[in-house]
Amino acid sequence: MKTENLTREALKKYAAENREAFEALLKDFVEIPSISVDPTKKDAIRENAKLAADVIRRFGGEASILETDGHPIISGTWTKNPDWPTVTVYNHLDVQPASMETEPWATEPFTFTKQGDRYFGRGTTDDKGPALTALYGIKAALEADLPVNLRVLWEFEEEIGSPSFEKAIAAHAAELATDSVLVSDTIWIARGKPACPAGLRGLQGFLFTLETGETDQHSGVCGGAARNPMAELMKLVNECFDATTGRVKIPGFYDDVVPPTKKELEDFKRSGFTVAGFKKDHLFKSLRTSDPLDLMKRIWAQPTFEIHGMTGGYTGPGVKTVIPPRGEVKVSCRLVPNQTGEKIAKLVTKFVKSKNKDVVVHVKNRLDPYQGKTEGPLAEAVKRAMQFAFKREPVFVREGGSIGAVVTMENVLKCPVIFLGLSLPSTATTPRTRTSTGSRPPAAWRPSRATSARSPRSASPRRSRRPERGR
Ligand SMILES: [Zn+2]
Repeated sequence: MKTENLTREALKKYAAENREAFEALLKDFVEIPSISVDPTKKDAIRENAKLAADVIRRFGGEASILETDGHPIISGTWTKNPDWPTVTVYNHLDVQPASMETEPWATEPFTFTKQGDRYFGRGTTDDKGPALTALYGIKAALEADLPVNLRVLWEFEEEIGSPSFEKAIAAHAAELATDSVLVSDTIWIARGKPACPAGLRGLQGFLFTLETGETDQHSGVCGGAARNPMAELMKLVNECFDATTGRVKIPGFYDDVVPPTKKELEDFKRSGFTVAGFKKDHLFKSLRTSDPLDLMKRIWAQPTFEIHGMTGGYTGPGVKTVIPPRGEVKVSCRLVPNQTGEKIAKLVTKFVKSKNKDVVVHVKNRLDPYQGKTEGPLAEAVKRAMQFAFKREPVFVREGGSIGAVVTMENVLKCPVIFLGLSLPSTATTPRTRTSTGSRPPAAWRPSRATSARSPRSASPRRSRRPERGR
């Protein structure tokens, strides 16, 4: 297949010819439980890393396993001519834990299952399927003699916030040099409407703690005189934000927020997003808004102040009349492009101190937001590719969550990063979206009614971007 013969028909034929091999390979990958958060799965990750490197070599590339402080990173290279530009495709091969006992899986999560035109199994969509899809894309590009050098970068710590990624990438920056990075780890908003995220929210986590005594005291003996740290923390939280509307009351909090452009809002509207679908996907009973555009702005383009938990006091059955000596609130702010975690941490700390000087603010993990491109040669290339494959232009939307590796690659490799996600959203026909992770091969060799489901970035456990874990 030569470049000039790289037509949709030729690619469909290529897809059909390679489908069986693709599925066999995906099965091998999915059935290794490469759960990055589980320390007992280190050997599984090692096994998957070795398999990944072997597969790259089988596809004619050079592979290296880059050791890090945590799980390894796989680098694959197909260099044909040093004068040609280099494109790197980023994916991750680690997954979240999965269990039929605690989650509504209809099939064994670590058994690759094909049902009709759908694949089930942890990682089939997020993100082993897209990684292998890219590999077959690379094979086709090589066979067609496209004038480009290709690389893959496969991480094994994405699901735990990429704690070792930046250091490892910086150490190997010269050998990983590339002209652009394509990230294939995102999901469309609606079937039939290609969508590319052009922005990710960041995160700044906090713990607020207050201690006013040493032990529990009796409210009959001390009540009225004793300070109550739990109640004072509740008051503080209410001073920080309006829990009904979500509006943050900390001065300066919104100063750096750049509202989405008219064009972006138009794309949001055309993305296929529906409030009913969002409610169903996330099992909500009610929301802060029922207006679709307002909802999209809230989850993609506005910062938040969120309470994740409150600890302290008596939590057993019934009522025990103690006055607790201490309390803690777990808080995080989602940040949007142009905000920085550093500034938000300063604003929040200063505000809390001004309201209650005894509260200690512990600044936790930070991920800066990412502003993607919707214009320029790379965005145009993504548009052309989507148009070629799906016969319609993609919409540029945003992601509510964070992918730490994206900002790292842009900063360390000093090159533009763009998204080209191929995953389809879940539908009502699947078990709960957060656990159903069907995936499909690239459009060119996907059966006509393939569907897949996986957790939207902003809501699943894996996407909760836990501050404690670097998200
Ligand atoms: Zn992913």
